[in-house]
Amino acid sequence: MELNKLLRKNIALLKPYSSAREEYTGEAMVFLDANENPFNEPYNRYPDPLQKKLKKGISKLKNIDNNKIFLGNGSDEPIDLLIRAFCELGVDNIVSLNPTYGMYQVAADISGVELRKVSLTESFELDSKLTLEKTDENTKLIFLCSPNNPTGNSLNREAIIEVIQNFKGLVILDEAYIDFAPGKSFLPELAKYPNLIVLQTFSKAWGMAGIRLGMAFASPEIIAVLNKIKYPYNINILTQQKAIELIEKKDEVEKWVKLLIAEREKMAVLLSDFPFVIQVFPSDANFLLVKMHDAKGIYNYLVEQGIIVRNRSKVHLCDNSLRITIGSSEENETLLNAFNEFI
Ligand SMILES: *Cc1c(COP(=O)(O)O)cnc(C)c1O
Repeated sequence: MELNKLLRKNIALLKPYSSAREEYTGEAMVFLDANENPFNEPYNRYPDPLQKKLKKGISKLKNIDNNKIFLGNGSDEPIDLLIRAFCELGVDNIVSLNPTYGMYQVAADISGVELRKVSLTESFELDSKLTLEKTDENTKLIFLCSPNNPTGNSLNREAIIEVIQNFKGLVILDEAYIDFAPGKSFLPELAKYPNLIVLQTFSKAWGMAGIRLGMAFASPEIIAVLNKIKYPYNINILTQQKAIELIEKKDEVEKWVKLLIAEREKMAVLLSDFPFVIQVFPSDANFLLVKMHDAKGIYNYLVEQGIIVRNRSKVHLCDNSLRITIGSSEENETLLNAFNEFI
């Protein structure tokens, strides 16, 4: 794969902004290079543009080299940057699934890039043949999401590999929910597939949606492209510090994940007993997609009770379905009690 051929020409030619903190990176006694205020330590200093300390922690955690990691302001940032780096407005296109995470479409729309949707099968599976057939010579990116949002299932591994191996552009595999899934991440496969980019996030299993930290893992060449076009100081000091702190509490995160998976399995059984529930779809994530009679009526009833779930009824293949996040056992109990009172 020739990355330069895939890149937009202006990006290939771009001379990136060179920040003070990149030009000189060593230790010093006095920093008078960035027009910072000498008062209000440590917030007066610009953050490390390449987040080296944080990446060291992530590198150890994920068993992957520093130069294969990009950190963004949520996963939203690498999603947007990849589109802007590789897709020419009005010329190139992207292929993604239907239904899937809404942000790929929004980011494509903002960049004025066509996004072609391939329907999942009735059982929410990836049809690799259909997906590849949807591509043409101007397709630069394919977005896959596994476990998928809002369906909750993991996509078939062989089908994902089929797409990666037979597509000449880049395949972005969004693994936002991988910590809740029994299947393995594609991270160890990166070396095998130079056109693969894996996205993960601190927003779900790590319980840090508020600090906005997303990760992209790929070849050093792809990571270099993202670093070249990002805002120089895209991850602020507070986020970097907090993430370093929380990575050290990894054992606690593992406990949360175990608890949430147990709650998910319990909720799947209990929810399927309600007479208005038609089907609880199997989930490898921290939410359940539940098909009901009159999802809208039930959604409105829950709002009245102060309980907010996501109505996905208008989404392709998700007719009359609510997406319910797995909360704490108390929160889940509150939902079950509300359902009990509904019947
Ligand atoms: C929640 C979610 C994310 C997380 O996005 P952040 O910007 O990192 O908070 C990414 N992808 C999918 C599919 C999601 O559902």
